[in-house]
Amino acid sequence: MNTQYESVIGLEVHVQLKTKSKIFCACSAAFGCEANENTCPVCLGLPGSLPVLNEKVLELAIKVGLALNCRISERIKFDRKNYFYPDLPKAYQISQYDMPVASKGFLVVEIKGDGGVLTEKRIGITRAHLEEDAGKLLHEGIKDGSWVDYNRAGVPLLEIVSEPDLRTPEEAFQYLVSLKAILQYLEVSDCNMEEGSLRCDANVSIRSIGETKLGTKVEIKNMNSFRAVQKALAYEVKRQTKAVESGEKIIQETRLWNESKSETFSMRSKEQAHDYRYFPEPDLVPFSVASEKIETIKKSLPELPKARWDRFKTRYGLSDYDAYVLTSDKILGDYFEACIQEKADPKLTSNWIQSELLALLNAGKIAIGDSPVKAKDLAGLIRLIGNNTVSGKIAKEILPMMFETRKSAETIVKEKGLVQVTDLKVLEEAADRVIRANAKSVSDLKAGKKQALGFLVGQVMKETKGKANPKLINEILTQKLPIQ
Ligand SMILES: [Zn+2]
Repeated sequence: MNTQYESVIGLEVHVQLKTKSKIFCACSAAFGCEANENTCPVCLGLPGSLPVLNEKVLELAIKVGLALNCRISERIKFDRKNYFYPDLPKAYQISQYDMPVASKGFLVVEIKGDGGVLTEKRIGITRAHLEEDAGKLLHEGIKDGSWVDYNRAGVPLLEIVSEPDLRTPEEAFQYLVSLKAILQYLEVSDCNMEEGSLRCDANVSIRSIGETKLGTKVEIKNMNSFRAVQKALAYEVKRQTKAVESGEKIIQETRLWNESKSETFSMRSKEQAHDYRYFPEPDLVPFSVASEKIETIKKSLPELPKARWDRFKTRYGLSDYDAYVLTSDKILGDYFEACIQEKADPKLTSNWIQSELLALLNAGKIAIGDSPVKAKDLAGLIRLIGNNTVSGKIAKEILPMMFETRKSAETIVKEKGLVQVTDLKVLEEAADRVIRANAKSVSDLKAGKKQALGFLVGQVMKETKGKANPKLINEILTQKLPIQ
């Protein structure tokens, strides 16, 4: 008998908050400095040093909590999470145990279905709590031991924990995309996975469909992209299903994702909260956050992805899906709006960004923020299409040249003589030549086979080396060859 299983997934996302200094000392939180350059007695855990909370960190955490529809804790308390590891100089991490900054929120995630149809799913946010990051151990290329870099020790992190509401690896991926978009819009983090400013661990278990109890969960770590999270979850769901079907028991453990082998392997059995002997941090007394302060932060929240998505639909007349794609990444949305400010047609711009520009960027693994074609130049190209200076077909050849040379569309059109032919006499002559050379298609069209018209238009485009205006050719041919 075949049992059907479903997966139950929850995600823990560590976000590095974008502050100049660390969470409990004045050291710089910048990435990419000399090893141990950004350290002091506090973040090195030297005896007698005392932590002081960076107020900006709390403000950013409250911002995230509000954007995720959470309840903001009136009382802020920090706790010590005790464990010994060389990257943790104090042998405890200052974190928040039972009173997180934010709790009981939710995030509405768009799940992409067949044909790009989007459906909404509400994913619960259990909590978001503050903690300090640990240092970094360096093993590679070092003989006789390891080195440690404490630059990252004390860098502020916000850990966002979701409810186990996600049911498929694809949903987990979409949750991460939506969460990252909100963090980008709030400008609270660089959200750069390569530099470690966004990290994700996943908890996954399976159960037979209809079962309400949770199965034994496995934690997966070491995934360095959203796609890796999706792949690791898909692998793990398969592994657990196979194990259960062959009568094995799933053990609660932590597994690591190996990207090159595309599989997870066991690292250690999972520790429980009591293993960490949490207790209140005696060096940071609990304090209250004034409700006025929370209100002020609430009022300062920027336009978030969902609101911008709605605005793109109503103001620019974009489809639901197009508006979603353009607003799911803040920088992409900014790029689009910068084009509109340069008087480019919104719908054309949306199409050109999503098909031509993103294809070129993806092929070169270039982020939209680093695009060699700036928004004002793409807008320039789109204006040339709009006022019939170049055909869409030629424009598709111009864009890669702009990409390559960083020249404006106007310059390339002038240099290469690519101006669209709209001279009726020239077009009619070209049409006549095509009519003479394609007797079969001509008689097909006259007999009412409309697809022959498309072929003939294509031939005239060829005849004019793509520089003709297809709409004009269409009109000329229809006029010359009426259906009989
Ligand atoms: Zn420090």
